[in-house]
Amino acid sequence: MKEDFRTDRRAFLALAAAGGAAVALPGQTARAQAVSTSARIVIIGAGAAGTALANRLVRRLEGAQITLIDPRAEHLYQPGLSLVAAGLKPPGYVVSQTTDWLPRGVTLIPDRVAAVDPEIRTVDTEGGESLSYDYLVLAPGLVLDHDAIEGFSLDMVGRDGIGALYAGPDYAARTWEAASRFVEEGGRGLFTRPATEMKCAGAPLKHTFLIDDRLRRAGNRGAAEIVYAAPQGALFGVPIVAEKVRMLFGDRGIETRMNHTLQAIDPGRKIATFTDADGFAREEEYDYLHVIPPQRAPQFMFDSGLAWADRWTDQGWAEVDPATLRHARYPEIWAVGDVAGVPKGKTAASVKWQVPVVEDHLVATIQGGEGTETYNGYTSCPLITRIGRAMLIEFDYQNNLTPSFPGIIAPLEELWISWLMKEIALKATYNAMLRGDA
Ligand SMILES: Cc1cc2nc3c(=O)[nH]c(=O)nc-3n(C[C@H](O)[C@H](O)[C@H](O)COP(=O)(O)OP(=O)(O)OC[C@H]3O[C@@H](n4cnc5c(N)ncnc54)[C@H](O)[C@@H]3O)c2cc1C
Repeated sequence: MKEDFRTDRRAFLALAAAGGAAVALPGQTARAQAVSTSARIVIIGAGAAGTALANRLVRRLEGAQITLIDPRAEHLYQPGLSLVAAGLKPPGYVVSQTTDWLPRGVTLIPDRVAAVDPEIRTVDTEGGESLSYDYLVLAPGLVLDHDAIEGFSLDMVGRDGIGALYAGPDYAARTWEAASRFVEEGGRGLFTRPATEMKCAGAPLKHTFLIDDRLRRAGNRGAAEIVYAAPQGALFGVPIVAEKVRMLFGDRGIETRMNHTLQAIDPGRKIATFTDADGFAREEEYDYLHVIPPQRAPQFMFDSGLAWADRWTDQGWAEVDPATLRHARYPEIWAVGDVAGVPKGKTAASVKWQVPVVEDHLVATIQGGEGTETYNGYTSCPLITRIGRAMLIEFDYQNNLTPSFPGIIAPLEELWISWLMKEIALKATYNAMLRGDA
């Protein structure tokens, strides 16, 4: 325990230093002289990726017409949703205004993209606007397909033991209402994740760990059964992390149902139906059920021909080079953030490393050259294992662990410092990223 404290203290100093470095970064971005251009750049989506990229491009380019298209007036700091759904933050912690983060000199069209025609280089909005572009960046995140779960609808969240924290801040707060009843009354808690790719694959585990911890703190763990059910064969995509989580689940008495895909719920009977690896239907009772639905690209990605034709065919992710994030067939198009069809990287931490790559290649292309920056698949997940403890898991395309503070923050240890990373430092870093400063 003493050693743990010393490690945390050293790590805290490293964190303070890292915070300082992030604050110092704006100077770095005021590097090269701005490039003069009249290029028309359209960015679809003003979430984490689109906003961060727009802020960086306005500094690099002079005279460019940069247009963002996004119907959502509210910006959502999604990593905060896990904290809201465990009663640790209010829903407002997650919400700001999209326009708060946008730089001067860009145009925001508050509308939804309905279609992209990459042959004639146009983007059409639902409101009937049609824009021509020279360069296009796809950053629309992903769609949560709640309708894919038979019998489920979002208006159930918070009632009858049903939670769905991915759906947004209000739903995350209602998830905590349902989860806190489970914490008070005990019973059987079922925690799920989808078969598709998903953003922050650690979040289903975090919710399970946090509610387990809430039950223990309430002195009620003995009255509860916790079951984690997932379509995959392992608890995490990185084998060494999966093994660590398996051990922690064992210690905490959390049961698993691997190769179980949630198909349907019957809220009246409180039964969830899964299909197992052999395609058989399996019924599981619940008193609390956490639903994370299948996740896909927005419809225009399927219709535009920009998605992979031979991978993730039901999910529609953009067909890009994993290193440059440039579209495989349309060199004037890039994808960044959750919509990118790359094997890892659906986290805000990945966005932080992806955005400078797209910036580099886009600006170099405008100048008639080639970019040199590459993305290595960096993905990060501060995996909360109880209130006040987390493991700072960072990895790349090859499943190598890539710790930011080697020798200081051990990735597979449950540390207070890693919890602080999630609880405090992540939001500051995220906000700096949005402004194009980190
Ligand atoms: C519960 C949860 C926990 C998470 N925890 C972490 C964490 O701990 N660490 C971490 O790094 N990441 C975490 N993430 C993941 C992170 O939030 C996302 O990976 C990140 O927000 C992706 O950025 P993005 O710009 O691709 O998508 P988003 O930030 O979702 O933005 C996409 C934008 O595109 C817009 N859009 C969608 N469709 C259209 C359309 N047709 N036309 C125009 N605009 C459109 C949307 O309105 C939205 O504003 C978490 C996510 C969730 C849900």
